[in-house]
Amino acid sequence: MSIASFNFKLSTEIEYGCGSLKKLSDKIFTFNTYKAMIITDQGIVKVGILEKITEQLSQAKVPFTVFDQVEPDPSTKTIEEITFQAKNEGVEILIAVGGGSPIDAAKGTNILLGNGGELFAYGGINKVNKKGLPLIAIPTTAGTGSEVTIFAVLRDIDRNLKFTITSPLIAPDLALLDPELTLSLPPMITGATGMDALTHAVEAYTSVKSNSLSDMLAIEAIRLIFRYLPRAVCNGKDLEARSEMFKAQLLAGIAFNNAFLGLSHAIASPLGSHFHISHGVANSILLPHVMKFNVPALPEKYAQITSAMGVALNGRDIYEDAFESYKAVERLAKMCNLPDKLRNVGAREDLLNDVAEDALKSGMLKLNVRKADQEHIRQILQEAF
Ligand code: NAD
Repeated sequence: MSIASFNFKLSTEIEYGCGSLKKLSDKIFTFNTYKAMIITDQGIVKVGILEKITEQLSQAKVPFTVFDQVEPDPSTKTIEEITFQAKNEGVEILIAVGGGSPIDAAKGTNILLGNGGELFAYGGINKVNKKGLPLIAIPTTAGTGSEVTIFAVLRDIDRNLKFTITSPLIAPDLALLDPELTLSLPPMITGATGMDALTHAVEAYTSVKSNSLSDMLAIEAIRLIFRYLPRAVCNGKDLEARSEMFKAQLLAGIAFNNAFLGLSHAIASPLGSHFHISHGVANSILLPHVMKFNVPALPEKYAQITSAMGVALNGRDIYEDAFESYKAVERLAKMCNLPDKLRNVGAREDLLNDVAEDALKSGMLKLNVRKADQEHIRQILQEAF
């Protein structure tokens, strides 16, 4: 018997646990820097999380400046503004606080600080030459996993598209995960971001780049999400459910950082650029359709996913067991009160061809377990519409 070999990378130190935010004041000294910049958004200010961070820095007597205007799906223009402020104020360390949007905005800022030029030019794989400032990521959604990933997903307003920069040089140095910071997430964002994490886990588990280590992380993330997401949506103050969901999205993030993603993400990105559908909602609607399409190419793994989702296997027919996985995702999305049709979240049927064309350009397509052409993608979009 031969055991498949694999390579696995993780550049980020992880500090996870309730109350771990209090470690920020000690941790920041390990970077030996002077002035900090907090990068966040207005939602984080409103729920009082920014204040918790500034309290920590003030206690530790660390000088800081704040940029709190990051928008969902951060634009390259916003990142240029952040970079201007960081340079002007002699910032030496970045602290990103929030969901994927502020964390990716901080990664973008770091690319400009370290390399200059135009962000769009860094789109693709390994085009970043130099690491920027030290970066601490404090996630508040469960979620994107961006606190540990080598990806930044940014929006170019002029070109009307979302693009991804992939480089080990942009991964945060430290991810500080305090589940208590997710207690204020409203049910809709809890559900949508949880479904995004599920999509990461399912796509990493079935990616052609998956390996035995990423598989362990991804399948455990799937198990945890099915167990705890409905509880976190139902009762936002359920700290056990919040903590397990936070861990699940972290595991999914580490898994897809190595195994990458697939067709659902390839389509979700242009859906976001064309119709401003939130990333989590787009993935939640698409994932069951993509799974249904993929099952014939990998029935064994999809049957394992069904089992991890807590659905009993009949054991008679591997395809029947595998197809149960997409039905379980549909039930989970329903439990989370998430929309199940693209038509109900602002998509336009006459533009679905354009979305399919854009999805075809995604590098994620090559990693999807079943080859998909434009007509397949068009069909998936029509079913989801
Ligand atoms: P987000 O960061 O856009 O935040 C969504 C909303 O939730 C905002 O209004 C924010 O203020 C609010 N919010 C966040 N935390 C909160 C809290 N604790 N309490 C109350 N409100 C809170 O959402 P997201 O889903 O985390 O990130 C989406 C972005 O991340 C997209 O641009 C997506 O493309 C990107 N993404 C990046 C990666 C990566 O690896 N870099 C992976 C997946 C997705």
